[in-house]
Amino acid sequence: MSADRDPHGAAHPAHDGDAGAHPFVPGEVDASHRALLYVESVTVSFDGFKALNDLTLYVDDGELRCLIGPNGAGKTTLMDVITGKTRPDSGQAFFGQTLDLTRMREYEIAASGIGRKFQKPSVFPQHSVFENLELAMSGDKRVWSALFARLSGEQVDRIDEVLEIIGLVSERNRRAGLLSHGQTQWLEIGMLLMQSPRLLLVDEPVAGMTAQETERTAELLTSLAGQHSVIVVEHDMDFVRSIARKVTVLHEGHVLAEGSMSEMQSDPRVVEVYLGE
Ligand code: ADP
Ligand code: MG
Repeated sequence: MSADRDPHGAAHPAHDGDAGAHPFVPGEVDASHRALLYVESVTVSFDGFKALNDLTLYVDDGELRCLIGPNGAGKTTLMDVITGKTRPDSGQAFFGQTLDLTRMREYEIAASGIGRKFQKPSVFPQHSVFENLELAMSGDKRVWSALFARLSGEQVDRIDEVLEIIGLVSERNRRAGLLSHGQTQWLEIGMLLMQSPRLLLVDEPVAGMTAQETERTAELLTSLAGQHSVIVVEHDMDFVRSIARKVTVLHEGHVLAEGSMSEMQSDPRVVEVYLGE
């Protein structure tokens, strides 16, 4: 049933190859077969408990995908597998056609174009919004050397472009520590964008946001699709409804259902395990 394993008809070409045949090359992601992320039959056990159980998921290049499901369904564990934090016991995870995520180190995965936004803010509160983006671009953790390096016109343009995308143009010179909760989250997203990721993983982006901030975040993530693939984990169903084209429902480490939000809402299995609460 290979057609079931890949929505675009072809099994992953690198599946039977050995790791040495596909060395890691920074910045090179081959999405020529439309899918950008392949997760196939992944199982992760913790002391015999299967946090992920034969999970298969594909995400297209430029797609915005929502991941929902009850607590403990395995959403965070899936992100841990994609970012190399957790190794699966079995199964495959590929970024594009050639990058085997199960054999790359976390920093290699990040450098290859997968960015992850955590909930706890990692902005530098004493530095301006602009400087935070500048620091994120350099990828240099030595704050002072990065800030004293001269920016090229192109780099300044890129920072201004990201300020526009995240809606913080008017906060450009404000200290990051003075931003609202929502603005801080957008700055975090902007800092990820400075690394030009192909795939962005965002875990519960609107937790703690006001209704207005939530709406702005929906616009922001929607605007990123196309240029980037985005996987969003979120419990706020109004938010999911407002951004989702395709929703994947996880339950007990497995994909329970996949489709549009309205299809999920009328799927009795989904209503039973999650939406009916
Ligand atoms: P979700 O993000 O969907 O709420 P998680 O991926 O965090 O779910 O967790 C899935 C299951 O795996 C849960 O039952 C959780 O307790 C368990 N789990 C996650 N990480 C670990 C770990 N490091 N050790 C043991 N159990 C874990
Ligand atoms: Mg989680």
